[in-house]
Amino acid sequence: MKKNRCIICKNSESLQLIKWKNFNVIECHKCHLNFCEIMEIKEGNSSPVNQAGINMMAKSFFETKKLAHDYAEKRLHIYNNLLERKCENILDIGCGPAVFYKPYQKLNIKWTGIEVSPYWIEFGKKNSLPIHNIDIKKIKKKYDVITAHQVLEHVEDPNKFLNDIYKILRPGGILHLELPNNLSLTSTLRKISPTIFYDYGFIQPPMHMRAYSFKTIETLFKNHFLQTKNIFSCSNNHSIWGQVRNYSNFQKFFYGLTGFFGKGSLLVGIAKK
Ligand SMILES: [Zn+2]
Repeated sequence: MKKNRCIICKNSESLQLIKWKNFNVIECHKCHLNFCEIMEIKEGNSSPVNQAGINMMAKSFFETKKLAHDYAEKRLHIYNNLLERKCENILDIGCGPAVFYKPYQKLNIKWTGIEVSPYWIEFGKKNSLPIHNIDIKKIKKKYDVITAHQVLEHVEDPNKFLNDIYKILRPGGILHLELPNNLSLTSTLRKISPTIFYDYGFIQPPMHMRAYSFKTIETLFKNHFLQTKNIFSCSNNHSIWGQVRNYSNFQKFFYGLTGFFGKGSLLVGIAKK
């Protein structure tokens, strides 16, 4: 029988197989990754994105322009400090509706957004936003900052993905990852029982086939000789690192509470080349 290996840390000893609903999840006790071995449905080299989520983001886009600008301004300040120079350009991988295009343009930063989803390419055309489906491997330019928000949990081979990013990150450049936190309150509750929940934590087939924790991101950065600057969890509506969404007051209250107790649903990893 073929022996399983963790797709991030490559270890084959500390793995546990979990049978859940109609799918199997492998838990790596070394780097704390949870993953499904076979990705059956794919868009490029990634698992698909939930259409309800896409619709919500498209609607949110028109109602959150000020929030996007606030986030861009605060983050640029932090990027500049980490870079120890002025940031000139940003590559946004999996940019969705390009919420950061106009804010960064106003801040004189050259922003490039790439997307595999045909929905967002069409959205870009309709709303005059530069959203293009470009293969990372074909990018020749180098970037000061590369961001990938809600992307890694879809990527089939995270090590290959980080390798591609490394090549187009300038020396001293910053990588900013944002993804679901598999140690969050929501995720922990979803591991109680398969009779109550279809999802196993943030493993949500066929959409999310990988679920990450602090240690997984740390391992991934180490694998690619990136210097970890910060890895932390926060709420979806965090004042600097939150998502550009039009959350309801109830959601803001709930997210704020989980964030306060260190059980927020967002996992943020920042590293320097
Ligand atoms: Zn592992």
